[in-house]
Order: sequence, then C-alpha cells, then structure tokens
Amino acid sequence: MVYRKESKNISLKEINKKNILKIVIEMSPVSRIDISKQLKISRPTTSAYIGDLIKDGLIEEVGKADSTPSGGKKAVLLQFNSKAGYILGVMIGVKTIRIALTDLGSNIMEIIKIPTEEWLGPDAVIDKLIKNLKKIVRISEVNKEEIIGIGIGATGLVDSKIGLVIFSPNLDGWNNIKLKEIVEEKIGLPIFIENECRVQAIAEKKYGLAKGVKNFVCVETGIGIGTGVFIDNKLMVGDKGMAGEVGHIITNLAGNRICHCGNIGCLETLCSVNSLIDDIMADIKKSERFSDYGSSRLKTEDLYRLYEQGDEIVTRNVEKNAEYMGIGISNAIKMFSPELIIIHGEIIKFGKNYLNKVKESVSKNTFPKVKDNYNIQFSKLGENVGLIGATSIVFNNIFDLDNLNVAGQYIIKKIIN
Ligand SMILES: [Zn+2]
Repeated sequence: MVYRKESKNISLKEINKKNILKIVIEMSPVSRIDISKQLKISRPTTSAYIGDLIKDGLIEEVGKADSTPSGGKKAVLLQFNSKAGYILGVMIGVKTIRIALTDLGSNIMEIIKIPTEEWLGPDAVIDKLIKNLKKIVRISEVNKEEIIGIGIGATGLVDSKIGLVIFSPNLDGWNNIKLKEIVEEKIGLPIFIENECRVQAIAEKKYGLAKGVKNFVCVETGIGIGTGVFIDNKLMVGDKGMAGEVGHIITNLAGNRICHCGNIGCLETLCSVNSLIDDIMADIKKSERFSDYGSSRLKTEDLYRLYEQGDEIVTRNVEKNAEYMGIGISNAIKMFSPELIIIHGEIIKFGKNYLNKVKESVSKNTFPKVKDNYNIQFSKLGENVGLIGATSIVFNNIFDLDNLNVAGQYIIKKIIN
C-alpha cells in the first residue's frame, strides 16, 4: 500500500468511502446493510464502494451475523483490516526512549527500549533515535513503503501543528527543537508529534477507559506531572500548547523547591515521584532509624516494597503525596468538569490504598457540600500506553476520518483512485 500527501479536493465518492471506513473502524463487525442504512446511500452503491475497500485491503469479511430479525439470509460482517499497513511509535521519556512498530490497530509487533541519556544533549539523543528507528524497520522485515508514518510522544511543551518541542522541563537543552523536520528529513516518512501525556489521553480515548467518554482528564505522575484533557471529544491544546498543565499550577506559595519549569510552588514540586523521594529522604535523615534505610537514595521499587510493608516514614509521605494529588485533581475537576479522571505513571504501583487516599482528598477539596462521587481510576493500558497513543495519532491524521473536506491532508492514495 502506498500513502502520500494529497492536495486536490475530495470527491463525493471518496467522502462516501471514508464514511464507510469510519463506520467499519468504529463499529466493526458491521454488515453492508447497516452501513447503507446509516449513510443513507443505496445498497448497490454501498456494496460497490465496499468492494473497492476490500480490494484495497482496508476492509475484510469476517464471517456472518448470528441471525436476522426477519429470518432471512445471514448478513456477512465486515471489519477493518489492521494489517493493511504499519506505524512507528516513539515515546521520548526522561529516562527511556521506547520505539515500536505496530499494525494500524496499534498492536505492537516489535519494540526497542533504549536509555535516553539526556545529558548527551538533544542532537545526540535524536541521532540515537533515528538509528534505532532504522534498526526496528530492519529487524521487523516490514517494507518501509508499508509504514504510513511515525508518531512521537515527547516530554514537555510541544507545538504539534509544526512539530516543535518548545521546551522540555525535564530534558536539558530541549528548547525549540524542530523534531518533526529533523526526523522527517532523515527517515522520509510523515511525522506527527504530541506531548507525552496527551498521547496517553489519545490512547485512553481510542482503546482504554475513556472509550466513548466525551470529557476526561489523564494525569501522569512520574519524574514530573503531566496532563492530557479531552473536552467534548476534542483534545485540548490551547494557543501555545499549555492547556491543562495541572502539574504546574502554583499550589504552595510558601514553597522553596524550584520546579523544572523554573517556578516555585508548582504541584509537581509537591507530589511527583521525585518530590516524594526527596521528602522521604529528608524524613529518613531526621529519623533515629536512618541507618536501617541504607546510605543511598531510595529508588521507586524500594518505595513500593516499604509501602507494602507499612513503613511509617514511607506511608506518611505517600499519603501526603496522595493528598496533594487529590488537590491537583480537584483543581482539574473545577476547571474541566470531567466525567472521568485517569491516573497514569509510576505512582499507580502504590495500588488501591493510594487511590482511595486520592479520592478522599478530592472529595474534601472539591465542593465539600456536594457529595459527588468522582470517577477516578488507574489506567489499565500498561506501560506501553504512550506507544499506543503515539501510533494512534498517525492513524488519526493519515486516515483523518473526521475531516473530510480539508484539502492538503494526508489521505490514502488508493481511496482517491
Ligand atoms: Zn512547574
């Protein structure tokens, strides 16, 4: 399959085909009759377009419906062929870069994890990324022509329209990096870039807890705190890509820790996993039992174990962290009034007790007189959630099923013919 950027206006035939594809992707398995009814186009015309889409390899037949209400012939069901092409997904994290090759349904076929080694600076890190993108294509034995694009989730402020990493608080030297331009030139595939927490929200919307949910907020707690917000089914970005940065809401005016963003008193300085470790280490130093904890800085794995064992210092600080997280989520609730809040990141390994403490804090800090039961959950998409989201942005842009009349978009060549 060959994909290219197309600039001519879209014909009615093509719009109908895209609409058919959209229904098949969103509702599969689905029958030809149901599609024709939904689109209000005749059955022969629908069947002809579906025939084209099957020939193009985008739709496939998958057996027959159980029965028909009238007892007539059983309808053949159709589904999207996620093996019609491939996508590369990248997550540039503070500690690790993950690269995956997936099918069009974001199912991971190959994955490479490499240390970010951010101290090398953006040029060296991007070089390493490009080498490993080439490597994953080589070991997968997929033809490059079958790859429709590369989706990149990057930490920090990102202008996804132009593919620019404006500023990354946790990666040294990442200021105004033209990531899209650099990678596109070296690899020769369309590149789509979004902030790492927004790609997680995109993954939740397409495959996770937020499927079918119009308004939701994802909060990631790891080295920093990031957020992805959907309002009315649309990802919130804002003018400079700062919309919904809950982690950098000033929460502690009396604070003295400088946030990675340069401010003092951000929520991130109170309840990221990094600040949790700082707090615990400070308390251990003051404790009479300090020698029990060893001489080096605790790692996150140590914290989960000590929390499980009911260690007094760790438990107290994890609960304080949950309280601040609750304040952050409460602020997000007041700003966005979401139906659902999904928590991501290392913090979710503290488990159900942590989540309950967050919920208590949210109830206390939102509208105490309104006894609302806020829907707050841990993500269930696992550690590759970002890659699922990064590949989803490629799919959403290339197939661009909601944006039928925009000229100059990436569309599928075979559909235009
Ligand atoms: Zn900040």
